[in-house]
Amino acid sequence: MIHDSPDIAANLHHVFDRIAAAGGAVGRDPGTTRLVAVSKRHPAERVRAALAAGHRVFGENRVQEAREKYPELRREHPDLELHLVGHLQSKKAEDAVEIFDVIQSVDREKLVVALARAAEKVGRTPVCYVQVNTGEEAQKGGVTPGETAGLVARCRELGLPVRGLMAIPPVDEEPAPHFALLAELAGELALPELSMGMSGDLEAAVKLGATCVRVGTDVFGERPA
Ligand SMILES: *Cc1c(COP(=O)(O)O)cnc(C)c1O
Repeated sequence: MIHDSPDIAANLHHVFDRIAAAGGAVGRDPGTTRLVAVSKRHPAERVRAALAAGHRVFGENRVQEAREKYPELRREHPDLELHLVGHLQSKKAEDAVEIFDVIQSVDREKLVVALARAAEKVGRTPVCYVQVNTGEEAQKGGVTPGETAGLVARCRELGLPVRGLMAIPPVDEEPAPHFALLAELAGELALPELSMGMSGDLEAAVKLGATCVRVGTDVFGERPA
């Protein structure tokens, strides 16, 4: 019955159980991993179902889509928290600062400069995570591991609060070594937040210290094409 709506409350419950089980296996308190429910390409009604189930933290990967979907949801639930998890063009920095609370995809100097300027102009400063391209893939956003400290420092110089690192491992590789590398980098830089793990690999991420997992499919169902 592909047209049935997923039971989003049950899905959320199941994902939280997975987080608790993976964390429990390594002695972590389940409250130390947050779930960002990634709603990209899903209609606002599915986000409303998650809100009705008590969830408040969401992610989108495109500024335009978030602008269309979220202002009304935020009016309904002012305590909603929205994360940008996809590539951000510098020219959209102002829009992004207006709508997102956390920008997880800060990945280059030019964007840092644009975000700092936008924050000043809009009077609203998002929390930033630096995205690290742990697999050093040509097509993927993010700084290399070796460039991470430099971009974190640049954010701080320009007044952007950097709280963590984010990574998306290569699809065709074992994710755990990438999560371990991200955790090591965050430790070296004394950054408290580690955004890693998605529907297919959140257990490995939680075991290696994720403070934030980004889950789309296993919360909202398959994305429409
Ligand atoms: C879409 C997306 C996710 C969620 O992926 P699922 O496999 O559907 O859980 C997580 N992180 C980023 C950056 C994404 O773009």
